[in-house]
Amino acid sequence: MATRVDPVSLSEQVHALPLEYLRCRDLGHDWSVPKGFFKVEVEGGVRGALYVEREVHCRSCGLPRIELFRIHPRWMEKLSSRYDYTQVPGYRLFGPQKGEHVQGMVQLAIYMHEMEKVNA
Ligand SMILES: [Zn+2]
Repeated sequence: MATRVDPVSLSEQVHALPLEYLRCRDLGHDWSVPKGFFKVEVEGGVRGALYVEREVHCRSCGLPRIELFRIHPRWMEKLSSRYDYTQVPGYRLFGPQKGEHVQGMVQLAIYMHEMEKVNA
C-alpha cells in the first residue's frame, strides 16, 4: 500500500511564493514581447489558412504565455493562449478549491512580507 503524503495546504503554498510571484498574482503580469509573431503550421488547421504564434514574457516573474492566432484578411483571431509554467517552477498553485480566498491569501502574504521589512 502506498504511503499517503499530505498535500501542502494552499495557504502554505501561497506563503512560500517569492514576493515577485505574489505581486503578479495580486496585480497581474507585466507583459513584454521579446520577439514578434512567427508563422506556424497547425495540425488539423483550415487548409490555406495562415497561423502565427507569439510568446510574451512577464518582466517580473518570467512566466511565458504562448498565443496562437489565425490571420484573416482584415483582422487576427486569437485561437488560444496558454501559460508555460514549466519555465517558472513554483509559480503554480495546486489544489485550490472553489470558494477559497486565493486572492486574499496572496494579499495577506504580501502584507506579511511588508511587515517583516518594517519590523526588520
Ligand atoms: Zn508575472
